[in-house]
Amino acid sequence: MSHQKPYKVQPSASHYINGAYVEDTAGTLIESRYAATNEVIAKVYGATPNIIEHAVKAAQNAQKEWAARPGIERGRILLRAAELLRQRNDEIARIETLDTGKAMQETLYVDAVSAADNFEYFGHIAATLTGEHIPLGESFALTKHEPVGICAGIGAWNYPIQVASWKAAPALACGNAFIFKPSEVTPLSALVLAEILTEAGLPDGLFNVVQGLGDVGASLTAHPEIDKISLTGSVPTGARVMAGAAESLKLVTLELGGKSPLIIFDDADLENAVSGALLGNFYSTGQVCSNGTRVFVQSGIKEAFTKRLLERTAKIKLGDPLDEETQMGPMVSAKQRDIALSYIEKGKAEGAELIFGGNAVTMQGLENGHFIEPTIFANVKDHMSIAREEIFGPVLSILDFDEEKDVIARANDCEFGLAAGVFTRDIARAHRVIGELQAGTCWINNYNITPVGVPFGGVKRSGMGRENAKAAIEHYSQIKSIYVEMGDVDAPY
Ligand code: NDP
Repeated sequence: MSHQKPYKVQPSASHYINGAYVEDTAGTLIESRYAATNEVIAKVYGATPNIIEHAVKAAQNAQKEWAARPGIERGRILLRAAELLRQRNDEIARIETLDTGKAMQETLYVDAVSAADNFEYFGHIAATLTGEHIPLGESFALTKHEPVGICAGIGAWNYPIQVASWKAAPALACGNAFIFKPSEVTPLSALVLAEILTEAGLPDGLFNVVQGLGDVGASLTAHPEIDKISLTGSVPTGARVMAGAAESLKLVTLELGGKSPLIIFDDADLENAVSGALLGNFYSTGQVCSNGTRVFVQSGIKEAFTKRLLERTAKIKLGDPLDEETQMGPMVSAKQRDIALSYIEKGKAEGAELIFGGNAVTMQGLENGHFIEPTIFANVKDHMSIAREEIFGPVLSILDFDEEKDVIARANDCEFGLAAGVFTRDIARAHRVIGELQAGTCWINNYNITPVGVPFGGVKRSGMGRENAKAAIEHYSQIKSIYVEMGDVDAPY
């Protein structure tokens, strides 16, 4: 049975600083568990103040020389890192599956792949970071992009190496040094990324990993020598990070939670709309920030949509995430599974109609895994908890609508604004509706695809700033304006 396989993926030490593994066992013990068996697969220690200082000093020592290099040289190293990520894809996929419980069917094709795409994209961008020439008659001005300095990233547990890469690749391309704190739940793959960057030729001290709980994140946020903080996490943590960064007036990027609307109009292609709803709710066992968990379905297509949704959901293969046939693994932790189950209970109690799933599952041979059925509620009303709060689990809510105007207002009646999707064959309507929706990232006739060339991020309480694409450069560099006088100084004194 697969659960008898040795799962140990113990790194040689907890932290990676200045190009080498570093240990300090005085820090808080953190156990990483495999979600399918609840076995401890690795132990690391949270960073002590000494470790944090070591990382900050290493970053300081390395950053200026890195920033002074031509962009093409920085980019060449990032491109090499992209290649190495692809070479080590299967090993990283296994680590991500063991650390998160996500199915190998996903981690083999998404996690290191997305990380590699980021390093490739920003590797190319690095050589193109030029400023402007602004003619001012006889005189002129120039602008240039300068690095921010030392940037820190704090990650969530759902896409560990992807989150680290989405932050580190643009930061390094712009000439910054970077310190990353992974989620305590998933400490492992950021260390592999650090090894890869060293092997790719990144000078020591430019990409450092420090482990830890929220207190380590808070220390990085408050650190006076760190110039920028980028968090992927929940809204309450985002608010704490923003408040913590205020003291030192750090730049902040926040990629937070969501409760995104997915609107299916009567004229939508039925199979594509069902595919979008499945991808936008059950991928990564529903643990995706941009998920379209409020599925608004127009009355004319509701019956057919619900029927196909149920048929296709019934075929989802839940099970051992290391088995490549498995389509859905367990939730990342017992805590996260229990949160999802508590929302399912609330949905039932508040009068939503449970039409699929709704239960924890005991898998044979993986009895201690945190499995849960893909779950669908129908007749969900806007005021219900499952329609208002982020669940971060495989729970899809169907809400009915008739009128376009009405669905737009209801979709926007939400504190979050991360993402939104529309399925319709009427392209004018698609753009009209998307134009009205309060969301940072939108899809027409697809859902949850995030190519590196497209900016990603939220509005309202889903955060600020953008990751990916050229937009990320704005968040990891600052513009210096240089006025050049070609004539005499006109002083009235
Ligand atoms: P949390 O907000 O609980 O944690 C995020 C990170 O912040 C963790 O590394 C955590 O450390 C750290 N942290 C906790 N407290 C503090 C603090 N006071 N100061 C600084 N850092 C702190 O989120 P989860 O890890 O549970 O991730 C799930 C959330 O992330 C969901 O809300 C989801 O929507 C959001 N998310 C957003 C994405 C986006 O791009 N918009 C993508 C993925 C997830 P520790 O783990 O040790 O507690």
